[in-house]
Amino acid sequence: RHDPQGSAHFLEDESTKIFARKVADHYSARSNQTLEEREASPIIHLKKLNNWIKSVLIQLYARRGDAVLDLACGKGGDLIKWDKAKIGYYVGIDIAEGSIKDCRTRYNGDADHHQRRKKFTFPARLICGDCYEVRLDKVLADDAPFDLCSCQFALHYSWSTEVRARQALANVSALLRPGGIFIGTMPDANVIIKKLREAEGLTFGNSVYWVRFDEEFSDKKFKSSSPFGIKYTFHLEDAVDCPEWIVPFHIFKSLAEEYDFELVFAKNSHEFVHEYMKKPEFVELMRRLGALGDGNQDQSTLSADEWEAAYLYMSFVLRKRGQPDKT
Ligand code: SAM
Repeated sequence: RHDPQGSAHFLEDESTKIFARKVADHYSARSNQTLEEREASPIIHLKKLNNWIKSVLIQLYARRGDAVLDLACGKGGDLIKWDKAKIGYYVGIDIAEGSIKDCRTRYNGDADHHQRRKKFTFPARLICGDCYEVRLDKVLADDAPFDLCSCQFALHYSWSTEVRARQALANVSALLRPGGIFIGTMPDANVIIKKLREAEGLTFGNSVYWVRFDEEFSDKKFKSSSPFGIKYTFHLEDAVDCPEWIVPFHIFKSLAEEYDFELVFAKNSHEFVHEYMKKPEFVELMRRLGALGDGNQDQSTLSADEWEAAYLYMSFVLRKRGQPDKT
């Protein structure tokens, strides 16, 4: 039977799944680097800067004993940060089987290439799954509610369709306790669209990254297009090569409000660095991580191209409405 709408939906659904698989395969295939390989990376200082940003967010919002949900946890690069924050429980989910496997290895303390360390002090559950497709309130019914949810460098993968973007927020909202916090980092749509408009064609970038938009966005206006499914290809040297989607921030904010979140703050990475490098404890952390040399407020050890790539990202903090139970 002819059902044009149905088949359109089917096609959309199929291509969404194909793209989600592409993203998963890309991350699964990225093998663990040795310490030497990591230090030789052309974006080593950008990686360190991003680790600093995540550490600052965690230090600002994680409290001793917290139950933490890490959406798109990857290889578990943040496990040590959570350990330092003395959290009480951790659930990590990622779509990439290879990454979850590495995350388990790291959690179990086996042959970790960065450091051999004692076991983590908190119990953890590590799950392979698509956090933007599945209703996590069912999967994690026994683990919820969480005090804190983190989604680092990954929420934009949910903006391929409205259904997925909503599922992502519905999942976090359903699993956080009232007053719980949702922290994350993702590409800054304002910066990306501004750079696209300044570019001659549909591609822009520098020696460490490039972004390429599809032909269908050649008018660069996005007036008539849906705010979901604005796809581009992102290449970051030695890190990412995958389809990604624009997250227009004002729409993200109002969608989040529908799911009972209020915005605490949103900051571009440059602004984030300038603001938190005013605090001695975070200057000291930066010095230890080695992203900005002496901890100056400039990009003294980051190359200019890495600093420009950092500008493509932003951090956000949302709070789930309501008061925590007084127990
Ligand atoms: N959060 C980790 C970190 O900061 O180190 C990993 C960040 S990595 C740039 C992006 C991660 O998002 C990858 O591990 C990828 O597999 C994961 N991801 C992408 N789409 C996902 C989905 N639909 N569900 C769960 N994880 C997803």
